[in-house]
Amino acid sequence: MSFSFDFEPKPRRRSVGVDVGGVLVGGGAPVVVQSMTNTDTADIDGTVAQVAALHRAGSEIVRITVDRDESAAAVPKIRERLLRLGMDVPLVGDFHYIGHKLLADHPACAEALAKYRINPGNVGFKDKKDRQFAAIVETAIRHDKPVRIGVNWGSLDQELLTRLMDENQDKGFPLTAQQVMREAICQSALLSAKLAEEIGLPRDHIILSAKVSNVQDLIAVYAMLSARSDHALHLGLTEAGMGTKGVVASSASLGILMQQGIGDTIRISLTPEPGGDRTREVQVAQELLQVMGFRQFIPVVAACPGCGRTTSTVFQELAQKIQDDIRKNMPVWREKYPGVEGLKVAVMGCIVNGPGESKHADIGISLPGTGELPIAPVYVDGKKAMTLRGTNIAGEFETLVNDYIEK
Ligand code: SF4
Repeated sequence: MSFSFDFEPKPRRRSVGVDVGGVLVGGGAPVVVQSMTNTDTADIDGTVAQVAALHRAGSEIVRITVDRDESAAAVPKIRERLLRLGMDVPLVGDFHYIGHKLLADHPACAEALAKYRINPGNVGFKDKKDRQFAAIVETAIRHDKPVRIGVNWGSLDQELLTRLMDENQDKGFPLTAQQVMREAICQSALLSAKLAEEIGLPRDHIILSAKVSNVQDLIAVYAMLSARSDHALHLGLTEAGMGTKGVVASSASLGILMQQGIGDTIRISLTPEPGGDRTREVQVAQELLQVMGFRQFIPVVAACPGCGRTTSTVFQELAQKIQDDIRKNMPVWREKYPGVEGLKVAVMGCIVNGPGESKHADIGISLPGTGELPIAPVYVDGKKAMTLRGTNIAGEFETLVNDYIEK
């Protein structure tokens, strides 16, 4: 039987690189991780704390809502406070409806932001739409800031959609309603980018996004966008949802697109549980890029799923503890030990796959399963280095992992 399939990731699509406050998006740069706050931006303390937490977790760009005068006035203060904390993280202003007015009335906000995100579907009131779009683009040109033209299917330009539906009807419905919707999303982004360029915004100051909440629509829309332009692309599945559904849907869609070489920056939009940890979206974005082999952020902890051969929860607890320790120590380790993010630690539940997997890791342990002697061989750099015994195997292995990383 012959079987042919190209398993390798496609080369990255060539896109025009955009400098977002010192972080290059597109132009061959590694895929950038970004996130968004959910604080009221007028709450300076709360927003500074959340931006700092997201940045510490690994968000290379952070977007904040700028929805009214109070939030626009807070932006330069937030930026200043972050700089005082030593955090030169690029802030992106998320504008809807009155962005033109807020940017005009708050020049310090326009300057403090590293990028403006505008939505062509609600850039202003219908009869003044083009003028308001132009006003934002002109502000961006004046302040030398890039703009993300972010189409969202929930606020799609209804005029454009209606026109495309009418055209489809006139031609005898060659496209399904879903295909017309995809076309409208794509055209909205491309027409807005063209208009921005005509106003004078350089090509290397434009990023496009076209977010929808359905996985297949998202893949189709970005495939269309990537084929029709060389603008840098921001990927994200909007309204991805809560819990595992949001993680799975985002990972499936973004993973498929990135495997095709599409995407220059990603945001995983997870709905946090009330009081939930906002940094989870950053963690998921990093893990997605890391498991696909596109970037390395943190040592990998390989752990088996466990089965009837495991007699206790020791190995799960140990794997979790090591994962937590690594995450906690990474900000310091990253500075002190360059390359630490490429390490692999294995924590395995029994002799069946334990020694083999541990040998493939930089450091690994095979814990005793049911009926095995209460000993745990440890492998370092592919070779058996020692055997741990007794009641503190987990604690001793933790120390060994820390020592290995530090040495
Ligand atoms: Fe089960 Fe052992 Fe395989 Fe882990 S390594 S899943 S404990 S057989």
